[in-house]
Amino acid sequence: MTDYNPDWNAYCEKANSLLKRLFPICRSITGNGVRQTLSILLEDIDFDLHEVPSGTSCYDWTVPDEWNIRDAYVKDSSGKRVIDFQANNLHVVNYSTPIDALMSFDELSKHLFSLPDLPDAIPYRTSYYNKTWGFCLTHKQYLALDKKEQYTVRIDSTLEPGSLTYGEGIIKGTSGQEFLISTYTCHPSLGNDNLSGVVLWALLFKALSQQKLRHSYRFVILPETIGSIVYLSRNESLAKKLSGGFITSTVAGPGKFGYKRSFLSNHLIDRVVRKTFQELDLEYIEYPFDVNGSDERQYSSPAFRIPIGTITKSKYYEYTNYHTSLDNLDFISAENLVQTLKLYILAIEKLEQNKTYRSRMPYGEPMLGKRGLYPQIGGSINQKAANMSTPHGSRPYEVSVEQIIYGDELDALRWLLFYCDGQTPLLDISEKTNLPMRQLSAIAEKLLEQNLLEIV
Ligand code: ZN
Repeated sequence: MTDYNPDWNAYCEKANSLLKRLFPICRSITGNGVRQTLSILLEDIDFDLHEVPSGTSCYDWTVPDEWNIRDAYVKDSSGKRVIDFQANNLHVVNYSTPIDALMSFDELSKHLFSLPDLPDAIPYRTSYYNKTWGFCLTHKQYLALDKKEQYTVRIDSTLEPGSLTYGEGIIKGTSGQEFLISTYTCHPSLGNDNLSGVVLWALLFKALSQQKLRHSYRFVILPETIGSIVYLSRNESLAKKLSGGFITSTVAGPGKFGYKRSFLSNHLIDRVVRKTFQELDLEYIEYPFDVNGSDERQYSSPAFRIPIGTITKSKYYEYTNYHTSLDNLDFISAENLVQTLKLYILAIEKLEQNKTYRSRMPYGEPMLGKRGLYPQIGGSINQKAANMSTPHGSRPYEVSVEQIIYGDELDALRWLLFYCDGQTPLLDISEKTNLPMRQLSAIAEKLLEQNLLEIV
């Protein structure tokens, strides 16, 4: 993988079009909404679809019946839809059992959910394993309901044996090391959590497929919890060999960049992300590992212990719109999404560049002049290598590789020759010297050509 600098505007346009097409679809942990979503993603990238039948055991869990919904509403006696699934699919509790009945407000109200503190928001509610039905509405809508009305309540859904759908694709490298990139497709019309993560996952898949890679990257797209448990149960030995990974979630909000650490806190995965933020001088919030979150809880469970990190923009739990209808396409943007995509690409680039080199001339320093390596290699920027006391984290938003400050070329070359003892990977050297990985990697590859270094 060499420096990847594609047409980012094209990525923005693609992100925008995917967000618009996918947002209205009613997704869940199973059903046609997931299939429709995956088939749209398959127009641009190539992965396999898997259908796991209802009733299949996976560790302590069982794949539930498949849920599909066509329509749902609450009508007053004049026939007016006072709650309408067609207006917003969040109006129905996800996985609601079918119902067709006439009832009083008192009866109906036991099945209504609203948020008094956020009166314009429809909450997102699910009931996957407890068979019931319900409607979600804004608190303003709730207050406007006539308490004396008889309401026609209809949910035209099915909950029957079917299957759970997930996708899996692999981009093959040569090193034998494999990393996981996972996201979840179970959320209906919600923007940052997690349509943004789904679209970033697809664009990252596309970006990595266009490059020659050293490591392999396994991309999985599945419903949260049950999906990752199904996946692990069907791919146990493969999963145990994974070197680490990422879950793409909440990547396009207006808030700060964030990073949720792996359970190991200072694993390679954590270090490449930190290095990315540091090189770009980007402001971000680092969150400790927490079992509350997404599928890292499954992937990092005792039998697997895969270190998983998540780079975010407006992290889940941290914004008031979270899990409500206000987390919509107005809250997120394709531009924000592509900023976070760049961070993922730069972090993965560091995984790729993190080779271990050994000096073939460890006795003193080799004579650089006779090899044309002195005083500089290529177009150097005449700037002293940054040092660890450089203040960083001052830029709140823009992600641009032009922000990366390169050190003095001769300095970088000398540090490389000094540290390349066959035991110090390039990321360690980058952390010790504060020189950017792109610069160190480019020089190391040049020294490799000159036979001054070899790869361990
Ligand atoms: Zn969520």
